Amino acid sequence: MNNKEISVSDMAAFCKKKGFVYPSGEIYGGLSGFFDFGPVGLMLKRNIKELYWDEFVRKRQGVAGLDGSLITAPRVWKASGHLDNFFDHLIVCSKCKTKMKAEEFIEDTLNIDADGLSEKELKSIIKEKGLRCPKCKGSIKVEKPLNLMFSTEVGAGKESITSYLRPETAQSIFANFKNIFDSQRLKLPFGIAQMGKAFRNEISPRNFLFRVREFEQVELEFFVHPDKVNEVDGFEDIKREKVNFLSREEQNKDKPKMKKASFNEIAGRGNKWQAYWLYLGYKWFAEHGISRENLRIREHLEKELAHYATACFDIDYRFPFGWKEVVGNADRGQYDLKQHMKESNVKLEIFDEVSKSKVIPYVASEPSFGVERAFLVFLFEAFEFDEERENNVLHFHPKIAPYKVGVFPLIKKPELIKVAKDIFERLNKSFPSYYDESGTIGRRYSRQDEIGTPFCITVDFDSLKDNSVTIRDRDTKKQIRLKIKELEEACQELIEGRREI
Ligand SMILES: [Zn+2]
Repeated sequence: MNNKEISVSDMAAFCKKKGFVYPSGEIYGGLSGFFDFGPVGLMLKRNIKELYWDEFVRKRQGVAGLDGSLITAPRVWKASGHLDNFFDHLIVCSKCKTKMKAEEFIEDTLNIDADGLSEKELKSIIKEKGLRCPKCKGSIKVEKPLNLMFSTEVGAGKESITSYLRPETAQSIFANFKNIFDSQRLKLPFGIAQMGKAFRNEISPRNFLFRVREFEQVELEFFVHPDKVNEVDGFEDIKREKVNFLSREEQNKDKPKMKKASFNEIAGRGNKWQAYWLYLGYKWFAEHGISRENLRIREHLEKELAHYATACFDIDYRFPFGWKEVVGNADRGQYDLKQHMKESNVKLEIFDEVSKSKVIPYVASEPSFGVERAFLVFLFEAFEFDEERENNVLHFHPKIAPYKVGVFPLIKKPELIKVAKDIFERLNKSFPSYYDESGTIGRRYSRQDEIGTPFCITVDFDSLKDNSVTIRDRDTKKQIRLKIKELEEACQELIEGRREI
């Protein structure tokens, strides 16, 4: 699907109405940048996380998982650079006291790229262009930079120390690097991944779930021998595959043009491991129903590079509010391990069996996946207002869909209800199913279409005679009859795409 008619605010309203996402603490007016996932939303979110984890961690030899704490020793953040470098610039109106993120304010008012501008540059742009408060036209000034970490007190009274809610999941991977390596008998190259919450005190959360203050990430650090960043088994098989690509040079032009590039070309701008993991991320979205036209890979500009990265690419999605990052992929080099060695005085080098030498591993690739952002990608991609049905339809890939099947008795007759409930209970043991007996059959189809249930099963009077039911495809509305005893297997095949209606 490729339906961009729904705006982000309409999507937020739709998500609330259908039980996907609610503003957090809404009965008290909410809290900007925080959301709660409702019954259907949490199923969608779990599917996304599980499918991603399966593909990138569980099924992969040499990738280990970690579930670290949200609050940790504050020196972790000293070593990582977050205490000293993780800032946003704030602009404040002297009259109405409105606070704005400087980069966004400049981008919105002047329509230029303001990423990575220094305090001095920001001040001079504001002065030069005579920029004023968009709300009251008052004069504005650039404030002291604001650290994006949420701080908190750990312990009581004099003993208490200040620590922080983690702003990313990557650091506990580095801090636990030795523990994991020693206990898991890993050999280079290998990966360590973590899925979980992270927190950033964003000045201006915006675009619904896109920029929030509490979010989930899946980050994977891929460690290689420093001399082998370009030795990738299987790279030959994927290197010719092409993708929408926006290069650094294009972004420096007046009218940047997206072009097709091969993963080999991308590897030439970063490294082969980085290109390989970008390929896997891109393929994962495409295999779960995201059209390739709505995906692209963008190379970071030099000034955008984070303090730890030497090359960085994003997988972007074409949202109604523009192309935006969903997965980042940085070459972090040896930066983090070296920083932690310096701060902790613990040697974080390992013995490499192949070269028979001690090395500090090199992070050639760090795919960093934003769960809420992916959640939005799947929703926007799936959403369609179907004129003919006069109803919203979510065309989720069956594996992504919260419920896999809806089960209905044609009408509320005890003999039909009995068969339908039996089927529902049996199917619901294998995958999330939804039983519905209220309203017309058309209304029940519509309800399932709206939350993206790919298949609906109806028990009618013929079912009592021939032990068959009707199964309907959400997208084509095509219906076929299936034997009740074959349903479970047939549904399993339909969900996995091994069969069609
Ligand atoms: Zn103002």
